[in-house]
Amino acid sequence: MAAQRKVCLTGPMRVKIVEDTLRQAGCDLVLGKPQDDFRTYRYERKELINLIGDCSIVYPSGRDMIGADILDSCPDLQAVVKSSIGIETVDVEAATDLGIICCNSPTPENYMGVAEATMGLMVALFKRLKFNEAFLRSGGWKELENRGTLMLGRTVGIIGVGRIGQNVAKRLGAWGMKMFGYDPYVKQESVADLGVKMVSLDDLLKQSDLVTLHVVLTRETRGMIALRELKLMKPTAFIVNTSRGPAINEADLIQALNEKLIAGAALDVFAREPLPADDPLRQVDPLRLILTPHNIGANPGSSEAGQKMAAQSILALLDGKVPDTVVNPLAIDRWKERFWS
Ligand code: NAD
Repeated sequence: MAAQRKVCLTGPMRVKIVEDTLRQAGCDLVLGKPQDDFRTYRYERKELINLIGDCSIVYPSGRDMIGADILDSCPDLQAVVKSSIGIETVDVEAATDLGIICCNSPTPENYMGVAEATMGLMVALFKRLKFNEAFLRSGGWKELENRGTLMLGRTVGIIGVGRIGQNVAKRLGAWGMKMFGYDPYVKQESVADLGVKMVSLDDLLKQSDLVTLHVVLTRETRGMIALRELKLMKPTAFIVNTSRGPAINEADLIQALNEKLIAGAALDVFAREPLPADDPLRQVDPLRLILTPHNIGANPGSSEAGQKMAAQSILALLDGKVPDTVVNPLAIDRWKERFWS
């Protein structure tokens, strides 16, 4: 049985690649509230269910949560396709049980962009960039005590050694840095060529001069860095998070920075996004904490490439084909049985 070519874009964007590609392919589109104009809008459960209605595929914006209750209430829904790498706003487990396919869009423009940006944040921390710039602007000049750290020979701990973690490792290796990795799903053999030594999380935290997070957000990784873990780090060490905000307990990080348990941090991602004006992270000494608005890895090509990949996944699914962007392959048999037999 062929699916009707009806797709819901819950938060269409000004850059209309998905919209235009699907229209040209003859799809019927249901458009929700534009993401650019309603950034923090939260659909009521009923409103989102009505919006998705009898669509075969939903393309949710970063703003919209597709929980089990939504998936359960949309019997025609075959797939959820995102244009980003992170897909934690979708209840993938529930989707798998229902035979609903979930796809993400891991484009090189996206993951290479984040790897490059992570390098930038590391350099800024090791070289005390913010501090020295502020010092010069306030009338200072070079002082011995304001020098940065020689990165050559220092150790970086990479938590989550997937696409981005490995691309960070490639770059760090070329800079002559030592690397530890922690990732329960990655074997030593697969990253040995990159010079990464897989160790326990505690050993990585104790021995690294900088810790960088590149995990997917799951039940296991949510809050994986809290006060206990921050206390294991050297007081001279830094932490960088360009993965997902909730991986670090922010209240504990604030305490660690204020009490100088660690030397500094750089965050591109937050538990609450956009970062509220009254968020306590904004009160931490800005010379020890770099904050960027979840765009440090973005570049003119990254959003477009993500949208193109998502559009291709959607068109394949509407033809009953399984794209290689599926993140829940266990759903495939049930998906075929429910929608394509
Ligand atoms: P990936 O799936 O290739 O890698 C994630 C790694 O995390 C995997 O190797 C996985 O085994 C590992 N992991 C899972 N559970 C773990 C645990 N308990 N402890 C340690 N490691 C664990 O994903 P990726 O493409 O490398 O993306 C990494 C992160 O970066 C994701 O959270 C993604 O959403 C985020 N991201 C952020 C931006 C941004 O704009 N800042 C852009 C793209 C991606």
